[in-house]
Amino acid sequence: MELLSVIVPCYNEEENIFDFYNELMKNEQFFEKRGLEIEILYIDDGSKDKTADKVKELNARDPRAHLLSFSRNFGKEAAIYAGLKTAKGAYAVMMDADLQDPPSLLPEMFQYIDEGYDSVATRRVTRKGEPVIRSWFARLFYKIMNRISRTEIVDGARDYRLMKRNVVDAILSITEYNRFTKGIFGWVGYETKWLEYENIERKKGETKWSFWKLFLYSLDGVTAFSTVPLAIASIMGVLFCGFAFLFIIVIIVRKLIFGDPTSGWPSLVCIISLVSGVQLFCLGIVGQYLAKTYMEVKKRPIYLIKEEI
Ligand code: UDP
Ligand code: MG
Repeated sequence: MELLSVIVPCYNEEENIFDFYNELMKNEQFFEKRGLEIEILYIDDGSKDKTADKVKELNARDPRAHLLSFSRNFGKEAAIYAGLKTAKGAYAVMMDADLQDPPSLLPEMFQYIDEGYDSVATRRVTRKGEPVIRSWFARLFYKIMNRISRTEIVDGARDYRLMKRNVVDAILSITEYNRFTKGIFGWVGYETKWLEYENIERKKGETKWSFWKLFLYSLDGVTAFSTVPLAIASIMGVLFCGFAFLFIIVIIVRKLIFGDPTSGWPSLVCIISLVSGVQLFCLGIVGQYLAKTYMEVKKRPIYLIKEEI
């Protein structure tokens, strides 16, 4: 028998704990046939509802369901890391509690693992049911990201992934604090098979990602996997120096020909505001990287455990 660890990050998902379990267990026959034992790791990411109680209730019925409770909300990335760290399986799979990652795909995923792939990843090919603006920004993010980063970050990729032990260990070897999981998966490489499916809407409860939270998350992604913004800041500096130099020449020449030193006052104000804006912008870029570096050197733990069952 081989062990499959199912990692389920949960933040206020009390309504979904049992539904998820029931859906997963529809694969029971397959697990037996394939010779798989399972452990289900519910990672309670500091939920404020009854998520932990529900998991305990489930654990009393089926001891294969485990609970790992954080001391507060550390975010999904931390939950995934904690899950992978706790997982003992020869295989690990991450799935959202809201059933947007259908457990019914598992048999197909194992088919590819048995063909020799190290991991099987999923991506949704539609964004049905999502606000239009959100989809537009998401597409833009992936387009920019893939331009400025050498790590491949697949548009629509979900965190729903089945991995062999070697991939799990590779991901665990990355201990950085600013964890942009989608990038980390791409960064470690290995033979990956991509499965595609249509977007499935959340069954119960509501999404934990507001537009603003997603926007900040996308900035995390950029700073974690690209230093191109820093280069852009430098290039802008050079361009503006060149521009200013040309301007100086123009003004000197004009003065010599027309001899009117006081004209050009409004244009001067415009130039000063533009250049100081660009300076602040570039300073901000540098600041972003400095802030990330600051967080990294502190070496704070990625998560803290309150309870474990
Ligand atoms: N989640 C988490 N911590 C958070 C936010 C979300 O563990 O701070 C979990 C959440 O419970 C769910 C998964 O991450 O299982 C995906 O979240 P959600 O469904 O809200 O995101 P969406 O599918 O809307 O992108
Ligand atoms: Mg969801």
